Amino acid sequence: MKLVTRLIGPIIIAVVLIIIAIINLTMRRKGYAIPGKTAVRCSKGHLFTTTWIEGGSLKAVRLGPFTRYQYCPVGKHWAIIHPVKDEDLTPEDRKALLGN
Ligand SMILES: [Zn+2]
Repeated sequence: MKLVTRLIGPIIIAVVLIIIAIINLTMRRKGYAIPGKTAVRCSKGHLFTTTWIEGGSLKAVRLGPFTRYQYCPVGKHWAIIHPVKDEDLTPEDRKALLGN
């Protein structure tokens, strides 16, 4: 019984790490620049880049794999933000991102 108790902690940590790795891989496969610096859009439509690592966020409150509550530096307000796929960015979007 003691051995089982000692193993539970490391097993839970291992499972959590595996889940985080799978989520990050899934996001990458879907075309998002996650983990890493990704383009995001706030609820008011402002576009900016932020560092997004699933399961490793210290910068924002995590609400799910595609949602965050974060400060928007463009509109200077707090807002719900979502990642934008690299392929979904228009040339205008890219220009705006470079301007930040
Ligand atoms: Zn905004």
